[in-house]
Amino acid sequence: MAKQMTYHQIVEIFERFQEAEPEPKGELDHTNAYTLVVAVALSAQATDVGVNKATKELFKIADTPQKMLDLGLEGLTEHIKTIGLYRQKAKNVIRMSEILVNDYGGEVPSSRAALESLPGVGRKTANVVLNMWWHLPTQAVDTHIFRFGNRSGVAPGKDVVAVERAIEDNIPAEFQRHAHHWMILHGRYTCKARKPMCGTCLIRDLCAFEDKIYD
Ligand code: SF4
Repeated sequence: MAKQMTYHQIVEIFERFQEAEPEPKGELDHTNAYTLVVAVALSAQATDVGVNKATKELFKIADTPQKMLDLGLEGLTEHIKTIGLYRQKAKNVIRMSEILVNDYGGEVPSSRAALESLPGVGRKTANVVLNMWWHLPTQAVDTHIFRFGNRSGVAPGKDVVAVERAIEDNIPAEFQRHAHHWMILHGRYTCKARKPMCGTCLIRDLCAFEDKIYD
């Protein structure tokens, strides 16, 4: 685990991220709060590209909880069978849609507790939805953020909860809302798992990682 950075180093890093991409966006396609929740729930242990391929046609015919119920478990399963764990995910989406129709008037609730009570929605999914749809400064730590946070020293932690807490504690307030997407995109496209692209990384002079790769 890299050692913790200073406040001024972290400010400099996020100023560079902000300058390079002032409005970072998530890469899961969605058209409303409901399709966002479904897409995030489907993305567990799957790539955003794979989920987008499957939901392209699905969301044309089922972009509300009621339309998803009208499509039914079999119809939904057919659409998402290229995604890992699709059978369980399909059951969760149908059960989630029933609850949204019966208990929330077909709308997606906007509190963490209500979101986390939905089948297939855990803390990480709730944090992504609260950040992307309601623009709250929540942090959802996935494999890319976990790796980048630890290598760079921006948010070191032994598990995802520790890294989430480190992001909340270490990153200045003005960068909190976009921190999730800056870090996920940097981890996904630059600070890659097997071969980080340190030679072209815009924070290479600040990063604490000792095994940087420059070729
Ligand atoms: S310098 Fe290398 S290890 Fe550090 S953040 Fe950039 S890509 Fe990752």
